[in-house]
Amino acid sequence: MSESFDLIVIGAGPGGYVCAIRAAQLGIKVACVEKRATLGGTCLNVGCIPSKALLHSSEHYEETKHKLADHGVLVEGVKIDLARMLARKGEVVSANVKGVEFLFKKNKVTWLKGEATIPAPGQVAVEGTTYAAKNIVIATGSESIPLPGVEVDEKQIVTSTGGLELEKVPGHLVVIGGGYIGLELGSVWRRLGAEVTVVEFLDRLVPTMDTEVGKQFERVLGKQGIKTKLKTKVTGAKKGKDGVTLTLEPAAGGAAETLKADVVLVAIGRRAYTAGLGLKEIGVALDDRGRVVTDGHYATNIPGLYAIGDAIVGPMLAHKAEEEGVAVAEILAGQHGHVNYNAIPGVVYTWPEVASIGETEEQLKARGASYNVGKFPFTANARARAMGDTDGFVKILADKTTDRVLGAHIIGADAGTLIAEIAIAMEFGASAEDVARTCHAHPSLNESVKEAALAVAGRALHI
Ligand SMILES: Cc1cc2nc3c(=O)[nH]c(=O)nc-3n(C[C@H](O)[C@H](O)[C@H](O)COP(=O)(O)OP(=O)(O)OC[C@H]3O[C@@H](n4cnc5c(N)ncnc54)[C@H](O)[C@@H]3O)c2cc1C
Repeated sequence: MSESFDLIVIGAGPGGYVCAIRAAQLGIKVACVEKRATLGGTCLNVGCIPSKALLHSSEHYEETKHKLADHGVLVEGVKIDLARMLARKGEVVSANVKGVEFLFKKNKVTWLKGEATIPAPGQVAVEGTTYAAKNIVIATGSESIPLPGVEVDEKQIVTSTGGLELEKVPGHLVVIGGGYIGLELGSVWRRLGAEVTVVEFLDRLVPTMDTEVGKQFERVLGKQGIKTKLKTKVTGAKKGKDGVTLTLEPAAGGAAETLKADVVLVAIGRRAYTAGLGLKEIGVALDDRGRVVTDGHYATNIPGLYAIGDAIVGPMLAHKAEEEGVAVAEILAGQHGHVNYNAIPGVVYTWPEVASIGETEEQLKARGASYNVGKFPFTANARARAMGDTDGFVKILADKTTDRVLGAHIIGADAGTLIAEIAIAMEFGASAEDVARTCHAHPSLNESVKEAALAVAGRALHI
């Protein structure tokens, strides 16, 4: 047996690397295994960060081309340098992954390079060397779910990874799956000039979203030129020199039709990734979706073996993985790490952004809760008008008896930033009145949050 550690974390995504850093802060001797050439996992390398870089660049283009004239700023000859845009995205990724490497050095986290297996409880093997570990945390993340009959080559038929690397703007991009990843990447390429069609099996986009917000979102995306084919399934794909021909059928069954695309993005969801770890051999319990089964303290059924992030149940989000990384490190240090799953924001980084936290109105109805709704549109917000970004609204749901905030759903400019205010309110068990009586700077988009909170009690001031 080679070197031994108090803790070995497998996977250096936002769950794993944050867990390793927090453990090191708490005096735990920790190593983190990563098989990718760079740290940061899906999020930093091929997920959150590169997608947000392209969203930002493409939004600049869209704004310059279509919105600046309205502000009296005239720009002629606006063009895209796609190679530069992709290179910039690469630079952003590189700065971020190097940042994690720096943090590992600073905190004395040992990076074990290579693919890990768990030959036995308390052991981790990497590239022919076996290390002893008092505790092991599995943070191996997730992978794209493949679609039978639609074989990915990352050129004509791509996952999100290939969708971040297209060398030219496709004439027609068909996105299979109306979740947030498909809509974000669809937005990028639509802004850059592609015709975009989103094919979704269900009757709505991002089905977990509050229905009212979802409907508005569909309208806004439609206005931007993103076409949607709901209640439709893709049953096959045929590749040719001039593109891909998809076969579509109504989800409920019926006559098939074809749809031609230059590029197809398969974005039907992600599934836990634990391949090659040897979990079956040591008897680790997995659920019916291949996720590692854990208790409330992230412990698996094998003593000393824990799991976090996309590899376990819950929303597949980087910040959820990070919180779990911190919690499990604290638990292993004898502290009381905890994650409040009622207050995890979810954001779609299109423009306008869509952000939500807590329960939706449908969830409240389903559990028979008594609640009040407060809504405020950005058309009535002075700052949104000044910016020229008046699409959308803030919706706050509060308990009818206690006024406690149960959820908030925002579609509008900077919704992903605005939602943080509600996250803090919910963490502190705030009532809608607490938010409403908090002084908000004027003129700010946040005033719409205050007004929606006032509207919960029927006393919004500016509408
Ligand atoms: C296109 C896209 C955009 C996204 N945008 C957002 C967003 O805006 N906001 C958000 O919150 N989330 C976003 N996500 C989701 C987010 O990336 C994931 O929820 C997050 O990365 C999960 O973190 P994790 O640490 O659990 O796993 P991962 O980030 O997947 O990291 C797991 C790591 O483990 C490594 N690994 C796996 N097996 C082994 C092994 N046996 N040995 C060694 N290493 C191993 C992998 O190489 C990987 O680097 C996005 C995802 C995609 C694909």
